[in-house]
Amino acid sequence: MFWKKRKNKKEENNDARENAINDPREFFEKDEIVNYLSDGLLVFNNYNKLVLINPRAEEFFKVKSEEVLGSSIFDLNRFFNFKSLVSLLGGAMEKCFRKELRINEGLALEVTTNPIMIKDEKAGNLVILHDVTREKLVERMKNEFVALAAHQLRTPTSAIKWSLMSLLDEDIGRLNPEQKKLIEKTYAVTERAIKLINNLLDITQIEEGGYIVRAALVDIVEIVQSAIESRKEAIEIKKIRLLFNKPEENLPEVMMDAEKIKIAVENIIDNAVRYTAAGGEISIFIREYQTEIEVEVKDNGIGIPLAEQEKIFSLFFRASNVLKLDPEGTGLGLFITKNIIEAHSGRIRFVSKENEGSSFYFAIPKKGKFSEYLTEEFY
Ligand code: ADP
Repeated sequence: MFWKKRKNKKEENNDARENAINDPREFFEKDEIVNYLSDGLLVFNNYNKLVLINPRAEEFFKVKSEEVLGSSIFDLNRFFNFKSLVSLLGGAMEKCFRKELRINEGLALEVTTNPIMIKDEKAGNLVILHDVTREKLVERMKNEFVALAAHQLRTPTSAIKWSLMSLLDEDIGRLNPEQKKLIEKTYAVTERAIKLINNLLDITQIEEGGYIVRAALVDIVEIVQSAIESRKEAIEIKKIRLLFNKPEENLPEVMMDAEKIKIAVENIIDNAVRYTAAGGEISIFIREYQTEIEVEVKDNGIGIPLAEQEKIFSLFFRASNVLKLDPEGTGLGLFITKNIIEAHSGRIRFVSKENEGSSFYFAIPKKGKFSEYLTEEFY
């Protein structure tokens, strides 16, 4: 039988109650839910006017909804606590995903924006503000701890290095071949420890911001040359043929932090040497383009497996084909290098084929526009 039995009043009431339990819309007005959210919410209409602010966002910005509703995003600039949000979002209500925003010393928010679509048409933008003050504090304490430990370790490790060096120079007395070999090994291990400590310091500085500090007009050819020089010994030991192709004409000097760019170049050359078999070949090219200068370091080494290439710039990442070959690596170098290049508004990329070789390229704009990383005195 296909007919439905007509429900009596009592049954209908029961149904309504059940629906109300299953469907929260029957219980709450939408606004009420928004009021109880632990995240801050702002809604801007298509004219970038604020049309909704929930209590949590009022608390974050220390405003009352009646003071700010109807204001355009630029009008919000008159409230001190809104200033950093306005400059983050800009007039165009930029799309952002988990961008950090410091409202004041005691409040860090993570901002995500989403367009609001109604029937395929954009009706405005939703701004979600998530309180990450505690996470940031823990992160900062961790960074400070690593920086302090690394600083404390650097002095004694450097002292050990210099003592070993004077032993190797036989300043104190002649060494027999066995002693020499042992001290050479210890010296190499100490150098690795110093490199690791320096890498840790670089990373804490990157995470704290203000990593690029000494910008000046610099000749990139000189930097590359001195980076090659500093890796000469390893190149000779592995009998690697190194070709340096620099442009015949002088290149314009470029605004950069020479010390940091040298670290980046050394990291790339270091990798090329380490991941290329003895007797292999490395070619370095410097090219000038209209707006940028490009450096390429090409090797015919072991290459990077295709499936792992997208992770290569991540912190601590090491490809599966190098783990046995060179267990000493840390997976820190390319992360630091990428940060250095990007802090100069540059780009870094690579092409690589397993068992054939890799080319790492980075390009720095001739007119540096990395002001956000510098203090005013450099301009
Ligand atoms: P590390 O070399 O200490 O492991 P890096 O961050 O410098 O750390 O490099 C990350 C990983 O990228 C390396 O472990 C290696 O797998 C891969 N890699 C980088 N450069 C090359 C290269 N020239 N040839 C092959 N693999 C490379």
